Order: sequence, then structure tokens, then C-alpha cells
Amino acid sequence: MRVSVSELTKTFVSKYETVRALDKVSFTSSQGQILTLLGPSGCGKTTLLRCIAGLEFPETGEIQIGEQVVWSAARRISLPPESRGIGMVFQSYAIWPHMNVFENVAYPLRLRKVPRQELTRRVAETLRMVQLEGFKERPATKLSGGQQQRVALARALVAGPRVILFDEPLSNLDAKLRESTRLELRSFLKHLEISALYVTHDQVEALTISDEVAVMKDGVILERGTPEEIYFRADDPYVVSFVGRANFLDAELLSYQGQYASVSTPVGDLVCAAPPGLEAGTPVRMYARPESFQYVHPEQDPAENEITGTISTLLFAGEGYEVTVESGDTTILAKLGAEVDLREGDTVRIRVGRDWCRAVLPKGSS
Ligand code: ATP
Repeated sequence: MRVSVSELTKTFVSKYETVRALDKVSFTSSQGQILTLLGPSGCGKTTLLRCIAGLEFPETGEIQIGEQVVWSAARRISLPPESRGIGMVFQSYAIWPHMNVFENVAYPLRLRKVPRQELTRRVAETLRMVQLEGFKERPATKLSGGQQQRVALARALVAGPRVILFDEPLSNLDAKLRESTRLELRSFLKHLEISALYVTHDQVEALTISDEVAVMKDGVILERGTPEEIYFRADDPYVVSFVGRANFLDAELLSYQGQYASVSTPVGDLVCAAPPGLEAGTPVRMYARPESFQYVHPEQDPAENEITGTISTLLFAGEGYEVTVESGDTTILAKLGAEVDLREGDTVRIRVGRDWCRAVLPKGSS
């Protein structure tokens, strides 16, 4: 179900300081969507999730789940967590070590006083969904990290929630298991067509698991979009840097060519995507991801957006090379295909398509 948050503000006041954890945050997720809140530690992600769950109380704003208002400061509405139709999966899993798998999953149904037969049926059904049907009697402590994570997921699902909230659910798993579990989790959520809000500080996790990513900093959402939009077409320099490696060049806008702009950079004039309505001469920063560059064969005729430089370092990275190219005082990091034979010291031409580089306004200007 859709989750809609408007103008949510939450301040923590202690003897020593006042922290504005959420600063008028608004967003709406859509039905069946996995929307991820991504941001550095302390940016307010967990606070936002806890406000939606009913575990934290904002000072202003409104929260709606489906058509139901579950929190409104102005209208004095505050539904308790158990009436919000929410399932939650935490980083720590919060599964009970003294209970077996069945009892852990049954817990939310026992709280709701669901009759025994129905309870047994629903727990069995949910354990089947997460492929733990053979583990009913197993003490929760005798499970692997991945299995514990699935118990936590089953417990969040068993009462048929309208939306599931995930707070760093994979961070206790080792790197390899985290990778396979996130793929599993995504296909599982998509199969169930259940709406999910997902909190993580891990960019790769956010990009791989989500339908949309909202990047947060200091209690506000800076930018939101599909993983591709956030990775290749973000307009906020902080978002660009936070979600992955990027080559930034200080540049100046020369003129527009439709939705593109010609910019002058230390490595020559380039054509890139750009925000509309800027005057010629406006200082901008142009960025391109390392994988947005291509190697240009020496025989090829010169074309738009080429940079010539010398390879200063070359790292073989399996599927290709990570190459630093020095062009004047500028260093470009590019990922190039393994099919070309490159050496340190070689002079190379690399090219970036106009759709794969973007001018953004430097921080502080608007
Ligand atoms: P992390 O990834 O480290 O969990 P986060 O983005 O989830 O970070 P929050 O836990 O939401 O961030 O915290 C946002 C801000 O509010 C931080 O500055 C934090 O110190 C502060 N904060 C959170 N909970 C409390 C609290 N109960 N009392 C005082 N300050 C708090």
C-alpha cells in the first residue's frame, strides 16, 4: 500500500544539544514499490522509519498508509503501532532466542489473539514462503545468519501487513551472503507485490534492491529517483558523490543545444546534459561515472566529447581495466573493457557520450 508522509519534523532535545533529525520531510511511495531511504549515519533514516511505525512521535506533519491517516499532529491522530498494519525487520532481527522458529513467527498472531488453528495455518504458510518449513521446531539460536533473517522476515509478514519497513536488515550478514540475500529479498517482495520502505547506508544495496531511492542528508530528502536516475542523472553534487565514484570537472556553461549544454572544462569543451535556464558563463561542475567512458581506437576519426591523455595507472579488475588518465592537470578515472590491450604510459583517447555526463550547479548556488 502507498505510504505518504508530509512535512514531518522531529527534534530530539537533550541537556547538551538539540538535534533536528527530520526537517519537513515529505514523500509518497506507490503500491508494491520498494522505496529505499539512503544516507549517511545520523541523517534521520531510522527516525523516519520509526515515526511511520509509530515508535517515535514527530512534532509536525502527517503520515498516511493507504487511505488511512495514522498520524497527524494538527488533527491529533496517533494510531498505536499494532493498528498501523505494518511489519518491521530490524538490523538485529530482534528474534527471541528462547523461542523456536514457529513461536517467533507466531508471536504477532498471539498478540492479536488469532485462534489456534488459523495461527498454525498462517505460520506454516509464511514459513513455506520464506523456505523455512522444515525448521519449525529449531531453536532460533541454532540458525545461520541468513536463516535468522528469514525468520525475522516471516514474522514481519505473518499478520499480512500493508507495508513492510526494513531497517538495515542485511548488515549483520557477511558480504557474500548479503549479496545473494538482497537479490532473494527483492524477488520475494516483488513476487508478493508488497510495499516496502527500506533503510540502508549502503549505496550498492540501495541501487540493487530498490525501485526508487531517496537520498537523505541532515534530516531532509535531497533527491529521489530510480536507481539509474540517482546514479547517472542526479543533480545534487552530494548525491552524486554519495552513491558512487564520479569524475568532477570544474566547468563553465557556454551555450545550450536543446536539452544539452556545451561547457568549457580543463580538458576541452564538452557537451553534456544540464539543468535548464542557466546563463552563459555560469560556473557548473560536470561529472561522469568511470564506467561512462569508452576507449577510442587510434584509427577512429575524432568525435565529440573525446579526452586525450596518458595512462598513469592501470588496474586489471576482471571484467575490465580501471584506468587513470592524466590530461593536463586533470585526472580521469575510467573503466574500460578488457578487450583492449593497454599499458601504463600509453597515450589514449577516451570518450563520454553526451547522455552519460552531466553539468550540475556547485553546492551553495541555486
Ligand atoms: P544510522 O545509520 O547511524 O542509524 P540514521 O540515519 O538512521 O543513522 P537516526 O538514527 O535517525 O539516523 O538519527 C538522526 C539524528 O537524531 C542523529 O543525529 C541522532 O544522533 C539523533 N537521535 C536519534 N535518536 C535519538 C534519541 N533518542 N535521542 C537523541 N537524539 C537522537
